Amino acid sequence: MCKGDIPISTRLKLTLENICNLAREVGFDACGVAPVRRLEEDAQFMDHWIAQGLHGEMDYLERNCEKRYDPAVLVPNAQTVVVCLLHFDHSGRDYHRRVKSMLYALEGKLREAFGDDIVSQTHQHIFCDSAPMLERRWCVEAGLGFIGKNHQFIHPVLGSMVHPGEIVLNRAVDGYRIADIGNGCGDCKLCQDACPTGALRSSVWDARACIAYTTHHCLECQIVCPYNRKKELKI
Ligand code: SF4
Ligand code: SF4
Repeated sequence: MCKGDIPISTRLKLTLENICNLAREVGFDACGVAPVRRLEEDAQFMDHWIAQGLHGEMDYLERNCEKRYDPAVLVPNAQTVVVCLLHFDHSGRDYHRRVKSMLYALEGKLREAFGDDIVSQTHQHIFCDSAPMLERRWCVEAGLGFIGKNHQFIHPVLGSMVHPGEIVLNRAVDGYRIADIGNGCGDCKLCQDACPTGALRSSVWDARACIAYTTHHCLECQIVCPYNRKKELKI
């Protein structure tokens, strides 16, 4: 660094807006942040759901529960979860790999802007479709949308055809803004009526009856959802 240069880390404040701008630069369609906390309600719900056997053969859900319920157990010193969304179509592209590489690109920008110590140097802190994070819940925690009756996370503009990815930060973010989007389903029950197996019959999703869980070839409850027929917008 030349004499008189201002370190980059002192130029930007660690705010939601600045993080979102960087997320947009790497191509994400939406971004939010949430303070780390133990997800008490989800812990209770999931313990009960698993005890009833509704998780089917997803045995991994019975392990490492505390890490899933509390990111601070997963990543020591965790303070903030940055959640990014990428909208997808049905082109068959490998969005998992794409989201992961975008998360690494965003991490690079965050380190450059705020210093290397913004993320753990010793623990995994990037997650994408990974078991240790309750991804849908963190999408909600970050104020990005709600969980619909079809058991999917729904962004009010992008719908449910989104891939989330998370970066866990070791720092708090100035002025967390958590939108209270609530339950946007209202009286609609199109997904429950469209489900061919009755997996959505009750308010609790039954993984054992879900075709997507057993064969990965069912999108019925997402195709009928009005939120997926909205015009795509970049936000
Ligand atoms: S993916 Fe298919 S089987 Fe599973 S809940 Fe949705 S409509 Fe029902
Ligand atoms: S189809 Fe209707 S009830 Fe089902 S998730 Fe979409 S808005 Fe909610």
